[in-house]
Amino acid sequence: MTLEELTSFLTDLGLPPFRARQVWQWLQQKGVITFDAMTNLSKDLRDKLADACCIAGCEIEKRSASSLDPTVKFLFRLHDGELIESVLMKYKYGYSLCVSTQVGCRMNCAFCATGQGGLIRSLSAGEILGQIHAAQRSENIRVSHVVLMGMGEPFDNYDNVLRFLKLVNEEDGLHIGMRNISLSTCGVVPGIERLEQENLQLTLSVSLHAPNDQIRSTLMPINRRYPIAELMRACRHYADATSRRISYEYAMFSGVNDSDECASELAALLKGTLSHINLIPANDVTESGLKSSSPERIKAFAELLQREGRNVTVRRSLGGDIDASCGQLRSKHIR
Ligand code: SAH
Repeated sequence: MTLEELTSFLTDLGLPPFRARQVWQWLQQKGVITFDAMTNLSKDLRDKLADACCIAGCEIEKRSASSLDPTVKFLFRLHDGELIESVLMKYKYGYSLCVSTQVGCRMNCAFCATGQGGLIRSLSAGEILGQIHAAQRSENIRVSHVVLMGMGEPFDNYDNVLRFLKLVNEEDGLHIGMRNISLSTCGVVPGIERLEQENLQLTLSVSLHAPNDQIRSTLMPINRRYPIAELMRACRHYADATSRRISYEYAMFSGVNDSDECASELAALLKGTLSHINLIPANDVTESGLKSSSPERIKAFAELLQREGRNVTVRRSLGGDIDASCGQLRSKHIR
């Protein structure tokens, strides 16, 4: 709830507005998951709240820490027993948490472990926030950056994601700046158009993964609904309107989208638009049969893009030993 919503909810329970601010800070700033933890409220008041409502936080079902780097992967259990994943990564600039926006996903990308089980349900804004609080509690750290790149398609849960973005940004809450937030989409064009209107300073990432419709449609069914020309029209418009550089994710699959021709096509596609290309060594998802390109191929692909004048980086892989990639841990746990 926003502070206004909580104020009206607690007013209905007969409580004065200053109580709403206290409770709101416990929930949003400290991220407590029981009323008993709200120590500046009387026992009577805490009992009254516990009778009237519940706090749907994230409980840790499984925590795995990488032995290769400081990455920690969480499998969280929600109030209804559903499981979601988050990944905590440590960078020079602080801790970044990759959060889920849905349980499962309906987009069914060929290479993605999350999509294989379909969509179960969307997360509430509180459940998206709860992942940050739970990670902070577990590791005793502050998260400074958030990426919406976990399970799910953020634009398939637009309203809750927007509500989350506003709450996470609140000064009295976690107060994470929009410039420290990235949102990744598989290319849901109406979502990009709507987000443009919100005029937020966050970074939009677009999972492109192919330079033409022929390849992209075999990897990502969403491309049949919103083909590349339409997607790029929306992206160019977004970049012009917001003056924010879009980050294009490009996972490299051996023999599928990693040829020199693909690199030239990609360079041409993004010519003259505010863009950054992030090449991602693909994580093997056994069922798909897709394999990552070799480090040498990725390097050559990056160099070709650079020669054409594009901004490009190769993503460093973290947590390779803990199934840290999208949906991998949950699938294994359920099996
Ligand atoms: N639905 C959103 C955000 C979640 S997926 C989106 O599609 O962008 C987060 C990122 O992980 C996307 O770029 C997605 O394409 C990528 N991804 C999923 N499975 C992968 C795999 N096996 N290897 C590499 N990247 C993968």
